[in-house]
Amino acid sequence: MKFPYCQHRHSTPDPQAPALEIKGLGISYSSEEKFALKDFNISVPAGSALALVGPNGAGKSTLFKAVCGLLPVRSGSIRVFGHPLGACHHRVVYLPQRSEIDWHFPISVLDLVVMGRYVYLGWFNKPQKKDIEIARDALKEMNVEDLADRQISKLSGGQQQRVLIARALAQNADLLLLDEPLNAVDVSTRQTVADVLHKIKAQGKTVIVATHYYDQEEGRYDQAIYLKDGKKTSATPGVAELDSTHKDCDCN
Ligand code: ADP
Ligand code: MG
Repeated sequence: MKFPYCQHRHSTPDPQAPALEIKGLGISYSSEEKFALKDFNISVPAGSALALVGPNGAGKSTLFKAVCGLLPVRSGSIRVFGHPLGACHHRVVYLPQRSEIDWHFPISVLDLVVMGRYVYLGWFNKPQKKDIEIARDALKEMNVEDLADRQISKLSGGQQQRVLIARALAQNADLLLLDEPLNAVDVSTRQTVADVLHKIKAQGKTVIVATHYYDQEEGRYDQAIYLKDGKKTSATPGVAELDSTHKDCDCN
């Protein structure tokens, strides 16, 4: 079966396979031998929650972008639910860092969240009533249903994060890659995000959260891995090192 969105194929997940399996992955942004990720290996069981912890520049976003097929793989392999990249594209959702979004783009909150459905629709098909309902439910899940008609330029930092997560939820993917969803948000947004992570896991989905700051209780993670300079490190980085790039709350 093919989805209209970029003609991506829909393969049935291999029930025995991990949600994500990466072997010897090397990613470089330039032709020089400077690698953003080097000989990276990981196996993430389906239904688990993983914290990907590291300071700025460690390679967290690079890893997520590679898993979404947004960056060329220089070496190694990535398998998602037992398939090579692209074979089950709609099952993976990447939530970018808030700073990567153009928040001045003239679009309403609801329309942004409906974009989570495009993987099923294709770019040129109009969203159906069902898609709008799913988007509204996702906003409700994040406690921001009252913001549906607001322009995204009028959102606070915490609201932006909730809306982005709603868009990811609307896609109803099985592997969620959340890039720093807890960075610089208010306490109540942190709690909502933690609750939603818990729910996602209870639904049997797999979630990987990139973060500067690791709190086992906050996300109820099954495991944490630490990244530094594009490599996995067994040593837990010092709190000061991680916190130097972590802004706890802008709460605007
Ligand atoms: P993190 O998400 O952990 O902060 P990144 O994955 O963004 O780290 O960055 C990893 C490395 O790749 C850093 O050295 C960064 O400078 C480099 N890098 C990231 N994006 C680009 C890009 N678009 N072009 C060139 N280098 C990049
Ligand atoms: Mg990043």
